[in-house]
Amino acid sequence: MPNKKGRMTAPKYLDQLRTEWVYAHRRKLFLGVALIMCVFLIILGVLLYRFLVRDNDLKSRELAVTVVSGLKHAMVDRDPAAMQDTVEAIVSGGNSVRRLFILDKDGRVVFSADRKELGKRFDRSTDPSCKVCHNDSLPAGFINTVAVTVDDQRVLRTACVLPNEPACYSCHDASQSKLGMLIIDRSLRDTYDLIGRTLLFFLLFGSAGLVSVGYVLNRGAGQYIRAIENQGEELTSLYIMVERLSRSIDRKDLTTIVLEILCDFFKPREIYLVYPKNGGFRCISWSSAEQRFERVKVDANPALKRAIERWTQNPALEPEVAVDGMEIMLPVSRSRLPLALVLVNGLPVPFQPRRMWLLRTMADHFGAAFENARLYSIAITDSLTSLYTRRHLDYCSEQLLTKAEERKEPFCLVMMDIDDFKKVNDRYGHPAGDAVLAALGVRILECIRDVDLAFRYGGEEFVLLLPRTSAEEGQIVAHRIFEAGPIKTNQSESISCTVSMGLAAWPEHAATISDLLQAADRALYAAKRAGKNRLAVASSPALCDGSVPPPNALPGD
Ligand code: GH3
Ligand code: MG
Ligand code: MG
Repeated sequence: MPNKKGRMTAPKYLDQLRTEWVYAHRRKLFLGVALIMCVFLIILGVLLYRFLVRDNDLKSRELAVTVVSGLKHAMVDRDPAAMQDTVEAIVSGGNSVRRLFILDKDGRVVFSADRKELGKRFDRSTDPSCKVCHNDSLPAGFINTVAVTVDDQRVLRTACVLPNEPACYSCHDASQSKLGMLIIDRSLRDTYDLIGRTLLFFLLFGSAGLVSVGYVLNRGAGQYIRAIENQGEELTSLYIMVERLSRSIDRKDLTTIVLEILCDFFKPREIYLVYPKNGGFRCISWSSAEQRFERVKVDANPALKRAIERWTQNPALEPEVAVDGMEIMLPVSRSRLPLALVLVNGLPVPFQPRRMWLLRTMADHFGAAFENARLYSIAITDSLTSLYTRRHLDYCSEQLLTKAEERKEPFCLVMMDIDDFKKVNDRYGHPAGDAVLAALGVRILECIRDVDLAFRYGGEEFVLLLPRTSAEEGQIVAHRIFEAGPIKTNQSESISCTVSMGLAAWPEHAATISDLLQAADRALYAAKRAGKNRLAVASSPALCDGSVPPPNALPGD
C-alpha cells in the first residue's frame, strides 16, 4: 500500500516486482520445470534399472550357489536323475527362472530344465553371451551375470564355472579343475514392468505438477495483465479528467465539470460539492435519482456541517474513505486555502484503499483548477464594486456578439454614470464616495438577472450586458435599478445618489461592440442633458426630444 507521500512500501514493491518477474519469465519458468521433471525421470529410470538389475544379480548368484550345492549332493550319490530333478525343481519353483542348464567342458547340455535341450551343443563363437563367461582364465567357481537377449527377450544370464571338488572325484578326474558351466536365465520382464510403472507414476505425478505450475504462472500473469489494464483505465480516466477540467476557468462551470467527472467516475448515489462564498459556504448536490444539480442549504444538513467544520479546522485534510468503502470525503485545498469539499456517497462497489493515490491525484487536479478559477476571478473582478473589470467587458462583449450572431438573438448594452458624483466626493470625501460605488455595485447585482453581466467601466461609470434581450426588455431591467430605492451606505451620514443610463440594443442600434458602446454613451449624455436620473435609449424618439424619467427615480441630492 502506498505510504502517505504516495510512495510504495517495501512489501508492496517486492510483490509487484515478483508479479512482473513471473510475468516476464513465465515461459522460461514453465520450460525449466518441465526440463527438471524430464531429467528427474531419466535419473530415476537409470537408478531404478541399476538397483533392480543389481538386485536380480544378487538373487541369481544366490540361486547359482544353491544349485551348485544341490548338484554336489546329487553327485555324491552318483545320481544323475536327482541332478536333473534338482535342475527342473528350481525352474518350476519360480524366481523368474526361464532357463537353467549345465554344460560340460565341450559345451554340450548335460542337464537342463527343458529336457529337449539335453545334448544340445553351444558354440562359443555363435552365442554372444558365451563369451562373457567362456574365458579360460576364469577361476573355478567364478560367477558372472550379464543381461542378454534370448529369443527376443531380455534376460539376466548368470554363468557359474563348476569347480571340481572331492565330492565330484567319484566320477571326475581330480586333475580336472573345472567340470563345466551352470547357466541360469532369469527374465527381466518383471523388472522392466516395475520400472515402467514407477516412471509412469512419476510422469503422471510430474505432469499434474507441471499443469499446476502452468496454472499458477498463468494466474500470476493474468493478475499482472489485469493490474496493468486497471492502471491503464485509471490513467485514461485521469487524462479525461484533466482534459475536462481544462475546458473552463470559470468557477461556476468548474463546479459542474467536477460534479460530472465524479459522477462518471464513481457512479454514486449522491455527491455534495461545498465551496466558500462571501464568507460562508455554498453547496451544490447531484443525485442519481433526480439526475440533476441542486443548491443545498448547508445548515439543513448536519453531516455536511460536521464535515465542513472538520475541513475548515484543517484545510490540509487528506481524502478519507468510510470503513465500508462506500463513502468518500475529498477535501480540495491549495496552500492550506480551502477551495472545495466533495462528499461522494453510496458507491456501487466499495472503494479499494489501494486506490487512495487516485483520490489524492483528483484532489490535486481539482485544487489546481479551482485555484486557477479563483485567481482568474480576482483578475476579472473589480475589488471595490465586486463587478467585472473593463478588460473582461472586452472579452465578454465579443463572446456575446458571436453568440448573438450565431443564434440571431438581440442583446442590450447599458451604460450608467452616477450623477454629480464629484459633489459627493467634495462633500463627504473620497472614502464616502468609494462606499457609494460599493453600494451601487451591490444594488446592480441585486437588480439584474442571472444571465446579465455588470462591469465597472471607469471611475463611476458602469456597463451592463443583457443577453437575449431586446431594447424594450432591456429597459425593464434598467428600470429595476431605479425602482430599488435610494442607495444606502454604512457611512454615518446618509448619502443618496442618482444615476443616468444610456441603452443601445444589437442589432437595432449598432452592428459592432465599439459602435454599440458609442451609441449607449451618446444615449447616456442625452439622459444627462435631459436632467439626469433617467434612462435614454439610443436613437429612440425620447432620445431626440429629451429622455423619460423613471417612475420611481432615486431622489436627487
Ligand atoms: P455628472 O452628473 O455629469 O456625471 O457629474 P459628475 O460629477 O459625476 O461628473 P463626472 O462623471 O465627470 O465625475 C467623475 C468623478 O468621479 C471624478 C472623480 O473624482 C470621481 N471618481 C472617479 N473614480 C472614483 C473612485 O474610485 N472613488 C471615488 N471616491 N471617486 C471617484
Ligand atoms: Mg463620469
Ligand atoms: Mg458622473
